[in-house]
Amino acid sequence: MANKADVVIVGGGVMGCAVAYYLAKEGLKPVVIEKGDIGGEASGANGGGVRQSARNLKEMALALESIRLYGQLHEELEMDVEYVRRGNLRLCTTEEDLANMRKSVENQRTTGLELEMLDRQQVLDLNPYVGEKVLGASYCATDGHANPFLVTYGFFLKAKRLGARFFTHEEVVDIKLQKGKVVQVRTNRQVFDTDLVVNAAGIGGRKIANLVGLDYPMKPVFSEALITEPYPPLFPQMIGHARGLFYGRQTVHGSFFWGGFVGTENFIYRDGKPLFNFIGPSISRQVLDYFPVLRDLQVIRTWSGLIDQMSDGIPVLGYTSEVPGFVFCAGFSGHGFGLAPAIGRLISELIMDCRVTLPITDFCFSRFSRGGDHVCSCQGNATCTIDTAICPNKREWLKSI
Ligand SMILES: Cc1cc2nc3c(=O)[nH]c(=O)nc-3n(C[C@H](O)[C@H](O)[C@H](O)COP(=O)(O)OP(=O)(O)OC[C@H]3O[C@@H](n4cnc5c(N)ncnc54)[C@H](O)[C@@H]3O)c2cc1C
Repeated sequence: MANKADVVIVGGGVMGCAVAYYLAKEGLKPVVIEKGDIGGEASGANGGGVRQSARNLKEMALALESIRLYGQLHEELEMDVEYVRRGNLRLCTTEEDLANMRKSVENQRTTGLELEMLDRQQVLDLNPYVGEKVLGASYCATDGHANPFLVTYGFFLKAKRLGARFFTHEEVVDIKLQKGKVVQVRTNRQVFDTDLVVNAAGIGGRKIANLVGLDYPMKPVFSEALITEPYPPLFPQMIGHARGLFYGRQTVHGSFFWGGFVGTENFIYRDGKPLFNFIGPSISRQVLDYFPVLRDLQVIRTWSGLIDQMSDGIPVLGYTSEVPGFVFCAGFSGHGFGLAPAIGRLISELIMDCRVTLPITDFCFSRFSRGGDHVCSCQGNATCTIDTAICPNKREWLKSI
């Protein structure tokens, strides 16, 4: 016999857990199905960067809101998630970097984001450890970082306490439609009758969309990272490189996290799965050029993860008129961790009220399905109301029982 579920969330990464938390807070009893461990994929592999700067401008409203929510996450989740809001420096080493960065800073400021361009001396005033090749940087004082495991687990534990049900090591294998609408989700162990399913499956998201006859342009991209032994505190900022060569931070317990791309990543995965990771030494060499003070630190672990890279670099979110009851929450293209609280709340708004308080029109699935000329099922910008034929309004439903 089938179980009943208010909503089934596919994926127990930071997104699935955040959506579960905000829904459970509103009184729903979501079910989360995770085929591995909670936070076992990208959400457990990431660098912890929580930034607004250097984003696709379409994401800026989400990023600004997420930073606000990160500021209260400690109280909200009743857990210290090691959130540090002490700025982000994106380092420039050539005149060309500086010129490009100046332009980018100007563009980003048009969205309301406060960030500035610093010369070498101003960078040194904030971070005296940068090497000689750094000529300047962009600086966003309200960017920062947090511990990815604690944030994901914080959402998971609080959602569970509020009544969300989690099933791990269990895989969603089918989604049944009736008259084109979602009616059932099947795992390899059980069946749930439900009118709502949230696709928060990360790199598995396309497979989940395929189950209801939909598809979107996303491919997995291999990314590597390393962590060092702990060191006394040196600097609190998140660090990035103007051309994206590396990024990283010193964690609250003192270790340095560094991640990066060296250009050989494409050759080392098969069938979308990473085979091994080996670019740790290259990342280290790059970083040492910029922070020579770290020269004697031991690297204690390297790992790799997969990024769900969309063709246009921004996620796919919300309902689609093509399959009522199917909700997209995927394709975060390597920078979803910083957005998680805003996304969790936004998907919960959609499900509870059929309306959202942040603009999501740019992220609708219709940008792919109808050649971009079809108006999104969510029309308008700051607040959009969605046709209840597409979106079962759970708050109305709760009132009726
Ligand atoms: C190395 C690396 C560094 C990064 N650094 C940053 C950073 O500094 N800042 C930042 O903002 N972002 C960063 N990111 C990106 C960030 O980690 C992701 O955008 C974010 O974690 C996405 O969360 P998610 O929940 O959508 O996906 P995931 O964490 O991948 O979760 C999806 C889950 O769905 C599960 N799943 C898939 N298919 C099924 C199925 N059929 N049934 C059940 N479960 C299923 C998977 O097992 C997985 O656990 C980085 C990513 C990587 C790989």
